[in-house]
Amino acid sequence: MSRYRGPRCKVCRRENEKLFLKGERCFTGKCAFERRSYPPGEHGQGSQFRRSRQSDFSRQLRAKQKARRVYDVSERQFRRYYQKALQQRGLTGFNLLQLLEMRLDNAVYRLGYAVSRPQARMLVAHGHFNVNSRRTDVPSMILSLGDEIAVREGSQQRTYFKNLRKEAEDRNSAEWVDRDLEKLAGKVVRLPERSEISGSLDEQLIVEYYSR
Ligand code: SF4
Repeated sequence: MSRYRGPRCKVCRRENEKLFLKGERCFTGKCAFERRSYPPGEHGQGSQFRRSRQSDFSRQLRAKQKARRVYDVSERQFRRYYQKALQQRGLTGFNLLQLLEMRLDNAVYRLGYAVSRPQARMLVAHGHFNVNSRRTDVPSMILSLGDEIAVREGSQQRTYFKNLRKEAEDRNSAEWVDRDLEKLAGKVVRLPERSEISGSLDEQLIVEYYSR
């Protein structure tokens, strides 16, 4: 199954939670979840009342789907991350979330250089970033400690990046990346801690899903 390419707001409504997939729109009255906080589809409003009777499998599946949709990852790639997390030392669920968090597109989002992960993914895919001074257009690249991300010199002349210094000032940057707004760059200074990753993701349920 490939990445989900349908309407993003439907994902929030399906997961019964605001996942902030559309940048600034998510903070306005236009947010679809604010207006219709029930699942999409013909029986959406009715299924609202069935949520409390979810089976274990259903909760595990939803937890996995939510994480997949938040980071915009295909089923196959998500499973690969899980296998990698399984081979690492420590808690598999946390390892998995850390891997997702260390994706290049997520780091660009966490630096405040994009308003949403989908936008960060697009900026990376269009080749606007260097990692350790080398051009990359692979959003799924997993960063390592000490990696340096920077907007490419040619791209800095584009209107989006010209305005970005000012706009990013108002956006927080994660603490595991050291942001240099002047250079439109950033460096991974440590690994993200659990408290810095979305609290609404339930890694235990995801592990249970794959351990069935
Ligand atoms: Fe989700 Fe943002 Fe759409 Fe609201 S506007 S439903 S938070 S993607």
